[in-house]
Amino acid sequence: MEPGNRARVEAWLRYGSDLGLGPYYRDRAVPETAVMATPGAGVESLDQPSQAMAAAAGQTDAGSTLAFSQPPVSPAASVSLRSSPAVSLAQEPSLFEASDRIEGDTLGLIRETIGDCTRCKLHKARTNIVFGVGSVKAQLIFVGEGPGRDEDAKGEPFVGRAGKLLTQMIEAMGLRREDVYICNVVKCRPPENRLPEKDEITTCSPFLFRQIDVIRPKVICCLGSCASQTLLQTTQGISRFRGEWFDFRGSKLIATYHPAYLLRNPNAKGEVWKDLQKVMAVLGLQPKRK
Ligand code: URA
Repeated sequence: MEPGNRARVEAWLRYGSDLGLGPYYRDRAVPETAVMATPGAGVESLDQPSQAMAAAAGQTDAGSTLAFSQPPVSPAASVSLRSSPAVSLAQEPSLFEASDRIEGDTLGLIRETIGDCTRCKLHKARTNIVFGVGSVKAQLIFVGEGPGRDEDAKGEPFVGRAGKLLTQMIEAMGLRREDVYICNVVKCRPPENRLPEKDEITTCSPFLFRQIDVIRPKVICCLGSCASQTLLQTTQGISRFRGEWFDFRGSKLIATYHPAYLLRNPNAKGEVWKDLQKVMAVLGLQPKRK
């Protein structure tokens, strides 16, 4: 289709979609699960056994081996889509999402707005607010639950045992920690590492949404139930939707298990590596080779 016409059709379809008039435009011949071409990455490279991951996983400080021992992922390296429109909508926020965005917002402004926060009861026991780290230009954001003891002490997310494993996962994807952005649903440590409570999530999550809106990553990877249930606004268990793709305010969102869960359940590492390979396929990344 001629690009000008295509843009007009896409704009018209997006308008219909924003008004909830879809899916009249869908091509009924397209199956529910589509295989997405891997941009820039040969299927073969994704089909390698995850030596990098295995090597990267290494030893925990408790001494247990965290090697990823999953079977290789199938050659298709497919990305399952909820449905596949005949003309795809551009990766942009809907009319309503766009109107939620704060014009001219920056990470600095968000941090300034948080200030020395006392909005919820988590402030009482915290040492440091753990805002987030990484690149404002990141194509990939990892979202965790909330700071633990090490993070609270340092003011930086994912620096404890689970954080070390996350760093190894990032490096196995061929990235460095500073290439991505890492943050949490709540910015203050819940006492005794309990789950963040509903009122705490409701109070703090708008800052997370603003961080995502400023960075506008290609992919959001939710680590664990708290992050995925918060962003997807669901109460379903993560195992029901882990590894599937969703749209979130113009980004692609995928949920995988939390690294802390992997420390307790090393058998789940294969599933997580498959999810990360899907992310790599979308970002055109090659796994790190040893
Ligand atoms: N777990 C999380 O969810 N976030 C952190 O920052 C550290 C551990």
